[in-house]
Amino acid sequence: MGARRRVEVAVPLPVRRRFTYLWPEGAAPPLPGQRVVVPFGRRRLTGVIMRAEVKEPDPSLRLREVERILEAEPSLPPVVLDLVRFAADYYVVAEGEMLRAALPAGLSAAGREPASIPREDVVTLKAPPEMWEEREASLGRAPAQAAALCLLRKAAGRMLRQDLRRERVTAATLRALLARDWIEILHEPRQPHAPASLPELTGGAVKNLTGDQEIVTARLVTAVEQREGKTFLLQGVTGSGKTEVYLRAAAAALKAGRQVLILVPEIGLTPALASRLARRFGDLLAVLHSGLSGTQRRAHWDRARRGEARVVLGARSAVFAPLADVGLIVVDEEHDSSYKQDESPRYHGRDLALVRGRAEQCPVVLASATPSMESFQRAVQGKDTHLIMPRRVHARPMPRFEIVDLRREFREVGRANLVSRALESALMDIRHHGGQAMLLLNRRGWASFLLCRACGDPVSCPSCSVSLTLHKDRRRLACHYCGHEERVPPRCPCCDHEALQEMGAGTERLEDELATLVPGLRIMRMDADAVRRAGGHAAILSRFAKGEADVLLGTQMIAKGHDIPGVTLVGILGGDAALSFPDFRAAEWTFQLVSQAAGRAGRGREPGRVILQAFRADHYALLRARDHDYAGFYADEDRFRRALLYPPHAVLAAVRVRHRRFDAGEKLAMHLGDLLRADPDAGEHLRILGPAPAPLARLRGYYRFHLLLKSRRRRRLTAVLRRLADQLEKKGRQGGHVIIDVDPVSLM
Ligand code: ADP
Ligand code: ZN
Repeated sequence: MGARRRVEVAVPLPVRRRFTYLWPEGAAPPLPGQRVVVPFGRRRLTGVIMRAEVKEPDPSLRLREVERILEAEPSLPPVVLDLVRFAADYYVVAEGEMLRAALPAGLSAAGREPASIPREDVVTLKAPPEMWEEREASLGRAPAQAAALCLLRKAAGRMLRQDLRRERVTAATLRALLARDWIEILHEPRQPHAPASLPELTGGAVKNLTGDQEIVTARLVTAVEQREGKTFLLQGVTGSGKTEVYLRAAAAALKAGRQVLILVPEIGLTPALASRLARRFGDLLAVLHSGLSGTQRRAHWDRARRGEARVVLGARSAVFAPLADVGLIVVDEEHDSSYKQDESPRYHGRDLALVRGRAEQCPVVLASATPSMESFQRAVQGKDTHLIMPRRVHARPMPRFEIVDLRREFREVGRANLVSRALESALMDIRHHGGQAMLLLNRRGWASFLLCRACGDPVSCPSCSVSLTLHKDRRRLACHYCGHEERVPPRCPCCDHEALQEMGAGTERLEDELATLVPGLRIMRMDADAVRRAGGHAAILSRFAKGEADVLLGTQMIAKGHDIPGVTLVGILGGDAALSFPDFRAAEWTFQLVSQAAGRAGRGREPGRVILQAFRADHYALLRARDHDYAGFYADEDRFRRALLYPPHAVLAAVRVRHRRFDAGEKLAMHLGDLLRADPDAGEHLRILGPAPAPLARLRGYYRFHLLLKSRRRRRLTAVLRRLADQLEKKGRQGGHVIIDVDPVSLM
C-alpha cells in the first residue's frame, strides 16, 4: 500500500484537537475549508477540513475514512480558515466551536441545498416626486386613496404591501390606485431588513463633504488603494458624519474591485444604517445577523461566498464572512460591548477584525465617538493611525449639557421624584413650544447595591474599587472580584450618615409620573414589549421620527446611533447607575452611554439640550461627558487602570465555574485556583484573584464562581490557560462546567 491522502478535520465538539481521517480513494483532492461527514465513535459528525496532506501509512494507526464529501467548493476561504485557527488558539477553545460561529446555522447540519431568497410585494409610487402631493390633493373625494398616497409619499415612495396593510390600506384601495396607474406593485427579492418601508431617517444623500470629512476620507481612500494593512481609529463626535466617510472609503474599495466588510453592534438597533446601505449598494449588499431566519441568512451568506455580494453588513459573526478579497473592514461603534460574544465561543468581533485586516492586507477602520480605552491607547501610542473629526456637520453645536445633582434635589424637594424639576420644566417647554425628547432610563447597573443618600457614594470594596453587591438573603455585601465580604453596615462608611439606600427598583413609575407632571405629553415607549408589538425597533423609531409622540422612553437601546432631527432634548435618568456596577469598566460604560445618548440631541436645525440626573453628580465620567471631553476622560480613567493593573495596561481572563450545588461548585473553583497557582508561569507576572462568587451568584439554577487572571504578558496568560484547558479536557466533565473567557467584557 502506498502513500494515502489524509485530512485533519475539526469536529463540532469541545475538544481542542483535530482528528485525522483517510481521504476516499478516487475522490478529487481534498481542499481545506471543505465540509465532510466523518464517523466518530458510533456517531456521525459534520466537520471541516483544516489541513490536507499525503503521508506514508503508519501501521500503528487505524484511521477511518471520510464518509461523505458535502461540497466540491470549500465553504470557507483560506483566510477565514486561518482566522478560525487563530481565534481558537487565542480564545483557548476548540476549532469546532469557533467554526460554529463562522458558519451559518444551515451549514452545520449535513448536506442542505442552498436556499433562494424569499420574495415580497413592494408598492411604489409612479411619476416623479414633484407630482405626488398634487395627486394626493386631487383625491379629495377618495380619502382612503389619498391616505395611502400620503403614507407612500412619506416613505419616499416605497413601502411593503404588508406594511400598508398594517396601516389599514385595503386591497380595494390599492386596486383603485393601480387603475389610475399611479402606483406599481413589484414582486422583489426580500430585502434583508425590510428597509423599503422605512422612511428616510437620515436625510438625503450627502453632496459635499465637510472639511474634516474631506481630509479623513482622502486618507482612507489612499489606504484602500495602497492596500495598507493598518488600523485607523476614526474618532468623530456624534453627528460629525463618520458614516459618510467610511461609505466613501467603501466605494473606493469596490472601485478597486475588492470587497467590503462592515460590522455593527446590533443591526436591529440601527435600522437607519441598514436601509442607508441598502439604498447605496442595492444588490451588492448582503446582510448577516441573527435576526434573519436560517434560510435567509444562508442565502446572503452564499451570495457573499460566490462573490455576488460585494459589501457585507453584519454583527460580530460577520467577521468570518466568506469573502475572498476584502479591501476594507469597518467596525462601527467599535467600543460597543456587544462585539464580545457572551457564550461559547467567546470571541471579540472587533479584535478579530484587526487580525483579519492584517491577513487581508487591508485597512481596518474603527469608528466611534467614544472609543474603547484599548483602541484609544493604541492610537495615542502611535500603533494605529488616529483620525479625528472634532466638529458636527453644518457647524451644529454640541448640545448644552447640564447635570442635576439628585442629592441636592432630594434635600430641596424633600422626596424622591424620578423626574427632577429641571427635567420637568424642559418637558413642559416641549409640550408648549414643540420639539421632541428622548428619555433614557439607565437600567444596566440596577443590580442591588447600597448608596448613601447623603454623600452619593456606593459602599465599595476596600481593595478593588468596585461597589459591593448586596445579597439580601444573607444580609451581606460581597466583592465579586476578590471575594471580600462584610455585613451590611448601619451607616455609610464614608460620611457616617444613616441614609444608606438600596438601589435597584422603582423605574416603572416613570411613565405615570410623567403623565401627572406634564399632562397632554404624548409618550411612546421602546421597551421589549413595545418592540414586539410594533414589529421591531425600526417601526417605533420611524413612528417617533414622524412626530407621533413628543417623548420616546427607553433603556440603553435608544442611545445607539439614531439620527432623528426633531430631538431637541435628551433626559438621562439614573445617569450614574452603571457607575456602581461591580465591574472595572463601570466608568467607561457610563461615559460612553451618556455621551452616546447626549449625542442624539440637536442633530437637526434646533440646538440640543441634555439633562442628566445623578447622585454622584461630580464623578469624572459624568463631568467629562458633560464637557464633551473624551481625552480628559481617558486621562482620568487611565490613571486608575494603570494603578490597579486593568486593561489596557494588562490582559485579563476569567475562569468561571457553574454548578448545580453550591459546595461542589465552590470546591471545583478552589481546585482550579490551586491548579492555576501551581502553574510555573503563575507568580509575579500573572496575578490570580479569587475564586469569588460571581455577581450573578445564581443563574438558571446554577451557582457561579469565578477567578480572574491578570497579566502584562499575553503569551504567559495564554500558556497558563491552555495548560488548564488541557487538564480539564483530560478529566472530562465532572458535573460542573468550567468556562474560560479571554478578554472578558462583562465580569458578571
Ligand atoms: P455620526 O455617525 O458621526 O454620528 P452620521 O454619519 O450619522 O454621524 O451623520 C450625521 C448626519 O449628518 C446624518 O444625517 C448625515 O446624513 C448628515 N451628514 C453627514 N455628512 C454630511 C455632509 N457633508 N453634509 C450634510 N449632511 C451630512
Ligand atoms: Zn475586592
